[in-house]
Amino acid sequence: MIAIHQHEHEAINAREYPGTRQLCSECDDPTGRCEEDSIYADDDCEIGPLCEECWHDRPEYHQAEQEYIATNKFTINQYHGISNNTRK
Ligand SMILES: [Zn+2]
Repeated sequence: MIAIHQHEHEAINAREYPGTRQLCSECDDPTGRCEEDSIYADDDCEIGPLCEECWHDRPEYHQAEQEYIATNKFTINQYHGISNNTRK
């Protein structure tokens, strides 16, 4: 067997098993996301990573959602339709 370096191993895991590597900092469930699109409630990445459930429970989520809708002139239904369609 060929030895692989740890960072390569992580890269393979991220590619082959996306979403299995991160646990929610609130409830310890898998976040269902990989590092690149992990959810943090703050800009400094101190609150998180969060699973979508915990993220949706946070006041920051509702604030971000309202700001996104206001910025893009979406209705709430359009916003959720779009985010569902773009999900992997
Ligand atoms: Zn959670």
